[in-house]
Amino acid sequence: ELKENTVIIVLGASGDLAKKKTFPALFGLYRNGYLPKDVKIVGYARTKMDDAEYHKRITSYIKNKDDEEIAPKLAEFIGFSSYISGGYEDDESFQNLNKHIESFEANYQTKEKNRLFYLALPPSVFIPVSAHLKKNCHIKDGVNRIIIEKPFGKDRESCATLLSSIKANWHEDETFRIDHYLGKEMVKNLLVLRFANVAMSAGWDKNSISNVQITFKEPFGTEGRGGYFDEFGIIRDILQNHLLQVLSILTMERPVSFAAEDIRDEKVKVLRCIPPIEREDALLGQYVAANGKPGYLDDDTVPHNSVCPTYAATTLWINNPRWEGVPFILKAGKALNEAKVEIRIQYKDVTQGIFKDISRNELVLRIQPSEAVYLKLNTKMPGLITRAIPTEMDLTYKRRFAEAVIPEAYEALILDALKGDHSNFVRDDELDAAWKIFTPILHWIEGRHGPSPRPVPYPYGSRGPKELEAFINKYGFKRTTEGYNWPVTNLA
Ligand code: NAP
Ligand code: NAP
Repeated sequence: ELKENTVIIVLGASGDLAKKKTFPALFGLYRNGYLPKDVKIVGYARTKMDDAEYHKRITSYIKNKDDEEIAPKLAEFIGFSSYISGGYEDDESFQNLNKHIESFEANYQTKEKNRLFYLALPPSVFIPVSAHLKKNCHIKDGVNRIIIEKPFGKDRESCATLLSSIKANWHEDETFRIDHYLGKEMVKNLLVLRFANVAMSAGWDKNSISNVQITFKEPFGTEGRGGYFDEFGIIRDILQNHLLQVLSILTMERPVSFAAEDIRDEKVKVLRCIPPIEREDALLGQYVAANGKPGYLDDDTVPHNSVCPTYAATTLWINNPRWEGVPFILKAGKALNEAKVEIRIQYKDVTQGIFKDISRNELVLRIQPSEAVYLKLNTKMPGLITRAIPTEMDLTYKRRFAEAVIPEAYEALILDALKGDHSNFVRDDELDAAWKIFTPILHWIEGRHGPSPRPVPYPYGSRGPKELEAFINKYGFKRTTEGYNWPVTNLA
């Protein structure tokens, strides 16, 4: 249910996330009729800007602005968007913001009031801002909601501190912690694919599955923005949050219902079955200059002796009856040969005897780019001889759903928050369980227990460290190198 009389307040409205994601998503929702009737959008940050400057900024990432269908909608959008500047640490600024919001609420036809605060701010101000919002802008006679972005701490302890400081002011029901992977179409599809198909769920366990890889590949490096990255590293940036969220939905038991707490209960349960990652189950890499592209340490914003991993492959084990012994390899890297995010489920070898050395089944769920689900399976080669060859059953979204518009993750998530649906947001206990898995290895990398491990080098633009293949094979992955050909006439 969308509530009428809603004011959306974007704090940090002058920033990068607001410009690139938040405002384009809000506009996308508005354009398609998904924002509440009479909504108002208020931007807030310290930067002083006049209306013209502000409107230019919030629309700078909106595509096809001059399109005849889009231009009038954009004019309306600008019409209900305003900006107010103020600090993050003082009551007066927030009282001022509150007055600004009230000036809109005074004109609403009914008494109902709803405020959605979106913190597009660096983590250093999460705590003071959430406290000031509660004190000065939280309405008693209405619904208040707050959206927070990662990073949720740097390890188990700092996460607990952050969560409890925010909880001191905001109830769990009011809090929406974004992991934008939960808003991606293919990630949302996991629940349906798994639980609406007997054919899928039948082999979804250690009896059929040999190993699983969840992979994130990015074709560029830090490119002068290494300061932020170096403090976090690839594990905090991608594995501990995005890939682990995917893993939890992929492996959880069937929830009692689609209700948010039923889903999140199952996610936490499976995460709690995963012990902390062992050092020997990790491969860490750092890219070096190649093909005219700079190495990580060549980035001036990176400390010259940094041992921060820009590539990591870590293997997780789930100690429950369904998954015992199945390796789940989460791998992610920057400056690689391609851009892709996928889940690759590799099934066991077929019983030997009538077939020898035929390729394994693989179910691949491509999250991005170009969503697809394909099952690599063996078929008789058409013709007069009986020979099994690897082919695929393929569901390419662009072909099967040619007319469908796949929403941006941020559109899906902001709409959920407006409706008060927590299913695709991260609950406090999920975060604790997630950090518990990664904290020991992160502390080891940071040198808290002796010297830091040295990441192995890999060339910019490669598939990753040369050690990767042996690392993956150690967990039983078998790659079919011959015989599988994907026709180049595809849409992917
Ligand atoms: P940002 O541009 O660095 O900061 C947003 C705004 O916060 C700035 O415009 C600035 O506004 C204010 N600000 C910056 N540094 C500050 C400081 N030290 N103290 C107080 N205020 C400061 O950050 P962002 O990239 O938009 O990211 C916002 C949040 O989203 C972060 O938690 C980030 O991790 C997360 N996130 C970002 C992205 C992305 O694509 N950028 C993606 C996923 C998650 P004023 O100076 O005008 O007040
Ligand atoms: P693939 O790209 O051949 O990768 C298969 C696996 O082998 C991945 O785990 C990959 O690791 C690894 N790998 C790739 N190159 C390697 C190398 N040189 N040495 C060692 N390991 C290597 O994927 P595929 O599923 O067999 O598909 C083949 C092609 O067909 C792909 O381009 C795919 O997009 C296309 N296809 C598309 C669709 C569709 O769009 N619907 C359907 C079927 C196939 P990393 O992931 O770590 O690189």
